[in-house]
Amino acid sequence: MPSKEEKRRRRAIVQTIQDEKWAVAEAQMPLSKNDLNDLLNMLEDTIFEKRSDGTIWCYCDETLAQTRAFLRTRNLAEDDIIPWLNEYGGFCDCEVSSNVGDSWADRLNN
Ligand SMILES: [Zn+2]
Repeated sequence: MPSKEEKRRRRAIVQTIQDEKWAVAEAQMPLSKNDLNDLLNMLEDTIFEKRSDGTIWCYCDETLAQTRAFLRTRNLAEDDIIPWLNEYGGFCDCEVSSNVGDSWADRLNN
C-alpha cells in the first residue's frame, strides 16, 4: 500500500497531466468557450422540452441543423467546428448537447 503522502503526490501528478491535456484541448478548440457555451445553452433550450408530466421530450431530427444554423448566425467556421464536435461524440443536435456538453461543461464554467 502506498502511503498517504505518496497517494497525494500521485494525485497531484495526475491532476497536472489532466490540466495539461485540457490546456492542449482548449488551445485546439475551433471556437471560443463563450460561443460553445452559448451553443450548448441554445441547444438545451431548443432541442429539449420538459413536459408537464416530467418527461423530457427531444426535438432532435438526427441532424446538426440547429448547430449549423447557430454557427452560421455567428459566422463561425462550420467546416472546422463540425468535425471537432464529432470528435466529442456530437453527430446530431441532441448529441452535441449531451456528449459535447458532458465533456466540456466543467471547463466552460470557470
Ligand atoms: Zn439527436
